[in-house]
Amino acid sequence: MSEAYPYTEHKFDVVVVGAGGAGLRAAMGCAEAGLNTACVTKVFPTRSHTVAAQGGISASLGNMGPDNWRWHMYDTVKGSDWLGDQDAIEYMVRDAVNAVLELEHFGVPFSRTDEGKIYQRAFGGMTTNFGEGPAAQRTCAAADRTGHAMLHTLYGQSLKNDTHFFIEYFAIDLIMDEDGACQGVLAWNLQEGTLHVFRAQMTILATGGYGRAYFSATSAHTCTGDGGGMVLRAGLPLQDLEFVQFHPTGIYGAGCLITEGVRGEGGYLVNSEGERFMERYAPSAKDLASRDVVSRSMTMEIREGRGVGKDKDHIYLHLDHLDPDIIAERLPGISESARIFAGVDVNKEPIPVLPTVHYNMGGIQTNYRGEVLTLRDGDPDAVVPGLMAAGEAACVSVHGANRLGSNSLIDLVVFGRACSNRCAEILEAGRSLPETNKASVDKALARLDKVRNASGGTPTAAIRDRMQRVMQDNCAVFRTSEVLSEGKQKIDEVYREMPDLKVTDRSMVWNSDLVESLELDNLIRQAVVTMHSAENRKESRGAHAHEDFPDRDDANWMKHTLAWINESGEVTIDYRPVHTYTLSNEIEYIEPKARVY
Ligand SMILES: Cc1cc2nc3c(=O)[nH]c(=O)nc-3n(C[C@H](O)[C@H](O)[C@H](O)COP(=O)(O)OP(=O)(O)OC[C@H]3O[C@@H](n4cnc5c(N)ncnc54)[C@H](O)[C@@H]3O)c2cc1C
Repeated sequence: MSEAYPYTEHKFDVVVVGAGGAGLRAAMGCAEAGLNTACVTKVFPTRSHTVAAQGGISASLGNMGPDNWRWHMYDTVKGSDWLGDQDAIEYMVRDAVNAVLELEHFGVPFSRTDEGKIYQRAFGGMTTNFGEGPAAQRTCAAADRTGHAMLHTLYGQSLKNDTHFFIEYFAIDLIMDEDGACQGVLAWNLQEGTLHVFRAQMTILATGGYGRAYFSATSAHTCTGDGGGMVLRAGLPLQDLEFVQFHPTGIYGAGCLITEGVRGEGGYLVNSEGERFMERYAPSAKDLASRDVVSRSMTMEIREGRGVGKDKDHIYLHLDHLDPDIIAERLPGISESARIFAGVDVNKEPIPVLPTVHYNMGGIQTNYRGEVLTLRDGDPDAVVPGLMAAGEAACVSVHGANRLGSNSLIDLVVFGRACSNRCAEILEAGRSLPETNKASVDKALARLDKVRNASGGTPTAAIRDRMQRVMQDNCAVFRTSEVLSEGKQKIDEVYREMPDLKVTDRSMVWNSDLVESLELDNLIRQAVVTMHSAENRKESRGAHAHEDFPDRDDANWMKHTLAWINESGEVTIDYRPVHTYTLSNEIEYIEPKARVY
């Protein structure tokens, strides 16, 4: 190391990394349970990506028609293309109702029905009567700014419960002991340039997704999968990264999201022939089929020459037939986005849209209590002591191969709360901590030092750009053996460029060059794992639609991918069985069947 790095050590019962919906719900719950809780976040809490969630949060309240958790469970299992763990799914859909009512009591300003109940809209893949009945109105919304309302409310609740916030602190690496238990995290105070070791009985990663591994994504530039990067460096696997969700309606060019709520309110897609083509691909659900189905159908239309625009490379989304008053009341935010980013007046013209990277189904594997799992001595469900994960960073797995819209916000609060419930159960406030493993701290500092002093020939932005383009070209909606094996080669080449990284700013105060380089180091590892996992999976399931293996193959592939990567960039793949059992005997295991909408 070129210099010594002094650091301050802090001791807490729990340290939560991340202050999005998942991190805040976990932190407030731990604090409420009397545990001394720190929340470390690289951006101000209310700037976390959760703030951008538009459409809503699912729960079978039944305010707008008959509904119950069993139907929600069926839709989620089917949406996951039978890769979701059914014990975890049961836990989520049953707890969803309480979780939403709790949010209401915390103060989330939900939209209301005339009777004053929480307003619920239709969303893709949400049905009634085990897929046999009409669309369910299950998605609770605060106009088209649901995430904004939730995040501000949860931040208030966290403050009320005395969570200790460390804002604009960048978590660098996990501190692990020699037996593989987590002791806490090393973080960098961006404003002061100081380093901090947060020791705790439990570390909860709630760092969000890694959408920015791709060129065009609806997620914020801060969605760089830092938690996943830390877990991979700690020698632990990530699960199911090949499943990347493309949202059907990102604004063409800009990538900003147009919520599925638009189609929930009656909007529809057309091709260059003016045809509502979704009627052909999904005769029953049409524009409200699940996201993988709609994105794939749009991609097929464009590939077959029926795209719109000068280059015939996108699709139109119409809502100009809807009542302008309804649009103004229920979709004000997207009217504004369409005007600013596409120059379109939604009351008069269609919005140009394209499938855009939106959500990572894969991530840090956990059980339904939030505990991080690894494969140890043949046990695929072995708990990593001291470590939990929640939110988009985690893979519980409730979304399996494809997440249904509005099932992420509910995942955040249900499993954020599950983490804090588990902490309240197994931790003891003020328990003394074993000695810090200095070797692990030194290793983390050495990596920081190496990146900070990187003096190769390629700027961070250049490597990042190459990575994003390879992922966009070779690991998107259209996947073949040829495209994926070429992708593997190309992404491995990008990984091999990392030693040539060039960081120009060596300071420790507000060094955005260094922040972006550390983020790239997290992204590239996950990009490599994503590509290798996708190339490895020889079937089509959910978001992983493989042209050479067009069918789902339950006999050989109804299993989770676990993937590790070493410092040389070599990926090792193993598997974990899908949980084909439920949590209670109040619902039976939902047997796999063909997935049609
Ligand atoms: C535009 C958009 C609209 C969406 N709409 C919906 C919707 O309507 N319904 C739905 O269910 N889902 C929706 N989703 C998905 C959902 O919003 C996200 O999956 C979810 O908000 C992720 O929340 P999170 O708490 O896991 O992470 P985030 O909200 O992304 O927060 C991550 C947190 O981790 C912190 N962090 C990250 N790295 C570090 C580090 N190194 N050190 C310290 N802190 C760190 C950040 O500061 C931040 O506080 C949408 C997503 C997008 C992008």
